[in-house]
Amino acid sequence: MKRIDCLKTIAGKVGDALVVGSAGGATVEWYALHPSEGNFRSRTLGLASSMGLGIALGLPHRKVIVLDGDGSLLMNLCGLPTAAWAAPKNLIHVVFDNTVYESSGSSPTATAGRTDLVAVAKAAGFPRALWAPDVDGFARAVAEALAGNELTFIGVKVEHGIIPGIGSNAFGFEGGFSRHIWCGDSQHPHSVRVGGKPRQYLCLGKPGQRVPSIDFCALSANSIHRAIVR
Ligand SMILES: [Mg+2]
Repeated sequence: MKRIDCLKTIAGKVGDALVVGSAGGATVEWYALHPSEGNFRSRTLGLASSMGLGIALGLPHRKVIVLDGDGSLLMNLCGLPTAAWAAPKNLIHVVFDNTVYESSGSSPTATAGRTDLVAVAKAAGFPRALWAPDVDGFARAVAEALAGNELTFIGVKVEHGIIPGIGSNAFGFEGGFSRHIWCGDSQHPHSVRVGGKPRQYLCLGKPGQRVPSIDFCALSANSIHRAIVR
């Protein structure tokens, strides 16, 4: 099963959900399939789930989908019990498990051995966690999670490999994420500013308000949540 075939089934069906991608191949393919200002890419391996959790807690009326990889999730495994403890009903954590650290040369991760990430999510306390058995099952699982109201973890086993021809130039200007939340959100009119090089940061607050920067290199879900609700 190819990751991109799974992504194709949901590309037109996520509505206004905010999609936070990990620093890996899933995000590259997602941006190519579904360019949107509702996409946000973590540049730090492991932190997509924490960013997604913070955004989900701060914007509880918005669906938030995290597109993660096995290597990324394993890099920040403590994110699972943190999410399960907070249990935002609007968060959907998708993990494409190809059993390797693909972006850094395809050395194996622990899931090439005996680690079962869905079992880990269940043990961490996720109320709903499942393996998608095939492409159709993946599409169904995501659709049910979007229609439902429950913290959900969806794992899917996929082949190695990023589709040739899709590169980092598929990424858009990430500042668009701020406009997407701000302009598209009448209930919570936050301004969110995202930048820049060499470090990635996020500013959250009401329009016109002086807001702090959050350095994503030292980010926690709680810091995003507190910044959004400030
Ligand atoms: Mg991987």
